[in-house]
Amino acid sequence: MTALGPAIVELSASDAGTWLIIAECFGVETPTLQGEGPSCGHPALFIRLSRCNLTCARCDTTYTWDWSRFDPRTESTKRPAAELVAWAASCPVELVVITGGEPLIQQRNLVALVQGLLAAGKRVEVETNGTIAPDPALLVEGVRFNVSPKIQSFGVAESRSIVPSALEAFVVAGSAVFKFVASSVSDLDRIAALAAAHRLAPVWVMPEGTTAEAIIAATRVLADAVTARHWHFTTRLHVLAFADARGR
Ligand code: SF4
Repeated sequence: MTALGPAIVELSASDAGTWLIIAECFGVETPTLQGEGPSCGHPALFIRLSRCNLTCARCDTTYTWDWSRFDPRTESTKRPAAELVAWAASCPVELVVITGGEPLIQQRNLVALVQGLLAAGKRVEVETNGTIAPDPALLVEGVRFNVSPKIQSFGVAESRSIVPSALEAFVVAGSAVFKFVASSVSDLDRIAALAAAHRLAPVWVMPEGTTAEAIIAATRVLADAVTARHWHFTTRLHVLAFADARGR
């Protein structure tokens, strides 16, 4: 599954549970790793779903949703869940990262994919912006949610990006970590307030940046303040290792 398929259309009701709108899949033909969060450094396969319900100004995957700059007919394909499972099963790498965009927009259809991946012996991480409560069918052993709520400084109104009921659902599920992007110490104050208000734990902080220089600079700005709060800190290893090349 190296090449994107034909132009896609939005999912219809009759497709429920079978098809997903995909931006890209990678990690089989050119091996890569999870670059962020608790599994940073682990070999990983990636299934990136297209579409997002937010429009963050600092987004680094705008090709999943910004149709003023990208063409959805060339940036996304509609694929059967079974085909994606077969693609992942063709590779011995255990970890499959389902990311976006916002993958939970398609969670009704995602269940079949996740169940198939688990049956194939995979472990799954779902990367989400935390605005959509997870389907109970996804709250199973072998699935972790890397929830990344977006704060105001990331270029999005928190009235849209912080959804208390959805965050509560992730907290109750007990299978989530909360990973915040930050670039300044004042960002950490906002993260602390959100973590306290919504009982978010464990908190992970990730420096913002799409170049090694930016990540190193932000790391040095943030490191003392993150460790002083006894939070977890992650880098963006794929940026350091592969220069943020698409498909790595
Ligand atoms: S939630 Fe993520 S994918 Fe969606 S716009 Fe924001 S940064 Fe981009």
